[in-house]
Amino acid sequence: MNIYKLKPSDTNYKILSREGFEMATRKLPPYYKKQERNELHFAVCPVCNNPVQIIGLNKKLQHTDLPYAKHYHKTIRGLAAFDKEAFESCSLAHPGSNLFKDSRKSACTERERQILISLQENFDQVAYLFQLYSGIVMTPHLAEEMLKWYVAEQGHLYRGGSLINAPWVFVYLSRAQKLWGRKIKDPDLREVLSKKVPSGFINEKDQFITKGQEKVFFWFAKHKQIKSAENTLKETMQFFVTCDDKEIFKKTITFDYGLFQRLISIPDEKRRYKGKLTALAEKYLG
Ligand SMILES: [Zn+2]
Repeated sequence: MNIYKLKPSDTNYKILSREGFEMATRKLPPYYKKQERNELHFAVCPVCNNPVQIIGLNKKLQHTDLPYAKHYHKTIRGLAAFDKEAFESCSLAHPGSNLFKDSRKSACTERERQILISLQENFDQVAYLFQLYSGIVMTPHLAEEMLKWYVAEQGHLYRGGSLINAPWVFVYLSRAQKLWGRKIKDPDLREVLSKKVPSGFINEKDQFITKGQEKVFFWFAKHKQIKSAENTLKETMQFFVTCDDKEIFKKTITFDYGLFQRLISIPDEKRRYKGKLTALAEKYLG
């Protein structure tokens, strides 16, 4: 993997680079450890909170110019304890190993609590991301519907979920939602709704309306994880819109972890919907 974090309690991660790692750790223990004649380098996995060893930090590797992080199967004192169950369900270690929509972890640990905290504190940005990839505006009403489902589904215990993919898993676990009356921003989706739903149109407030009895829903399915050629994780899910029983729109959504990281590092005073939407999330997830 090419990402790491410094402490299990961190909710953000860093992209691995030689200079960045040196600056972040100031070359101090427990990140730098002497072992006989060698120097070993350690950090924490952003998904499972287990220790990781940084390979190729000081020496150029044969097959790649870049250092990478690899799970380390022992506790590093002062850094992180090794947790076998967490390692076995880590998407960076075993991509796609258990993505059954109803499969849940057996216990809520610090890792799962971090997911709930991050969703609460950053729900304005979760809503913004949703709007970006679905083209549908996340109104407080829609947010509330989805939050109720996430709680009912115990979304934080979903085995394919982690801190880095939390905003996508949040909507993935929601059930199909009605599209009637929702504000639609995506021009492609607007066109499909106007053309393929017989009595459908977009009104002057950007809302999708039908005059007939068609039942139009949107929903997410097929969460997938694969290891990419660059030794990083690639995650996708499918976004569907159906009219009665017919699929009228489909789109693959690729999880952009870096974008979520950038959005949540924006200071509170610059986040327009921070107060309103995060208060709503706190009501359900707090
Ligand atoms: Zn891991």
